[in-house]
Amino acid sequence: MSNYLRNYLAGAWQPEARAVHTLLDPVTGEAVATTGGAADGLRAGFEFARSDGAKALQAMSYGQRAAMLTEVAKVLQANRDAYYAISLANSGTTKADSAVDIEGASYTLGYFAKVGASLGDARLLTDGAPAVMSKDQLFQSQHIFAPVRGLAVFINAFNFPAWGLWEKAAPALLSGVPVVIKPATVTAWLTHRMVQDVVDADVLPAGALSIVCGGSAGLLDALQPFDVLSFTGSADTAAIIRSHAAVARHSVRVNIEADSLNSAILGEDAAPGTPAFDLYVSELVREMTTKSGQRCTAIRRALVPAAHYDAVAEAVGAKLRAVTVGNPRSDDVRMGSLVSRGQYDSVQAGIAQLATEATVLHDGRDMPLVDVDPAVAACVAPTLLGLRDASQGRLVHDHEVFGPVSTLLAYDNAGQAMQLAHRGHGSLVTSIFSADQQWLAAAGRELAGSHGRVNLISPDVGKTQTGHGNVMPQSVHGGPGRAGGGEELGGLRALGFYHRRTALQASAATLAQLGPVGTLQN
Ligand code: NAP
Repeated sequence: MSNYLRNYLAGAWQPEARAVHTLLDPVTGEAVATTGGAADGLRAGFEFARSDGAKALQAMSYGQRAAMLTEVAKVLQANRDAYYAISLANSGTTKADSAVDIEGASYTLGYFAKVGASLGDARLLTDGAPAVMSKDQLFQSQHIFAPVRGLAVFINAFNFPAWGLWEKAAPALLSGVPVVIKPATVTAWLTHRMVQDVVDADVLPAGALSIVCGGSAGLLDALQPFDVLSFTGSADTAAIIRSHAAVARHSVRVNIEADSLNSAILGEDAAPGTPAFDLYVSELVREMTTKSGQRCTAIRRALVPAAHYDAVAEAVGAKLRAVTVGNPRSDDVRMGSLVSRGQYDSVQAGIAQLATEATVLHDGRDMPLVDVDPAVAACVAPTLLGLRDASQGRLVHDHEVFGPVSTLLAYDNAGQAMQLAHRGHGSLVTSIFSADQQWLAAAGRELAGSHGRVNLISPDVGKTQTGHGNVMPQSVHGGPGRAGGGEELGGLRALGFYHRRTALQASAATLAQLGPVGTLQN
């Protein structure tokens, strides 16, 4: 087995080094690829991206860079069968779960290609109208957005090797900023293959896209003033990154997406038998089982009126019993494995921890697994826990179990439900299900301050809503507090991170010479 994932830096594939990490098939335990450790040539590679990559990208208009994204999307589309095979072998996902990552990546790229095209010939973005600063009206201040002068480094988590790259790279490249991707080692193969395909297709200028696989050592030390850094992963690693000397010294702009204890609230009006109740139950089961619960947006805390606690537990339990778990190569299997045996251990330990304060209502640990060796495969069936008195919960608001695990929490009144949702101390998303649209709107106002996204679901949008956990490029993704304080996507707003806002103070006649400009309004 010699599938060594080489680094691509300074427009060239770097020599194979000593294999340090082995990537495994999490279902069979077989080795599928290797990477080296600390990368050589980081500083030279970063410098090449900042000089040659940025220069070539910024020589283009926004419209031309949008067309470039279309070409990238075509490359991914042409190679998608290989991506599904890699996702199966390295992430242990069913075809449907691989699609969340792979098709999500293509959709997001296509979206930015489309909204980017609307900027046409623009080479500069303006922020609002000029402010007049002199009595004769001539001296004015025009705020502009110019691409940052550095590069964008992405340090990604293991759960979205495809989408995690392209949801960040699309707005960065559209902004004219070169990208260095460092995927999580355990699932780096898919990211690597996508970069390799795009490099081979020669659709990006040299230096626009680089990849570093294996260790992260030296990555942050190579950052310079004007670079930007996006991190997705655990809160512990996020804390290391925030306090890194180079990040602090050079004022590197950092975006963090970290742990999140997302919630979903069933409204008091949504009794069993109502459409809102059924929508809630389906959404909770979908969130627990999609990608084996390994989505940063998954529902971890399910808040329900005390009067409906038993009915929800029963309805969710019945659906979970029908979920077959095991080898995703088997046609009978609906949910595959976690990404690694390490995650398996972490999820098992997390369930045991939550069970010290909550009751196990549906125990996935008792469920048979299909076509796997349970001593080898990282397969965990979904587990639902519950707390009849939500005020007694502590761990459930603090500890994210990154797998197919959720906890039902009974609330006494709507005010308490809001307080419990806030106890995530900042989350990526909450969803609220009710037919009472006045109450939904009020709940949206109440929860906006502690959430990046608030999904208000009334039965009229039951069939068309895009889903609690699906991160759509039209809406912002990120959350305050524990969720990392970051913000991505949200249409053209996503470009803001890769631009610097500057006030140009000049005569109105000078400002008129700026050439074609666009705005970040969608
Ligand atoms: P992690 O251990 O923090 O690793 C994330 C990334 O950071 C990996 O690429 C890792 O590289 C790298 N890394 C580790 N130590 C580093 C250091 N000292 N300096 C620079 N980079 C370093 O997280 P994970 O286990 O992959 O991801 C799971 C967690 O991510 C979950 O807890 C989940 O809550 C969170 N998550 C959040 C979101 C979100 O959008 N909010 C999305 C997905 C996941 P190696 O793989 O080489 O160690």
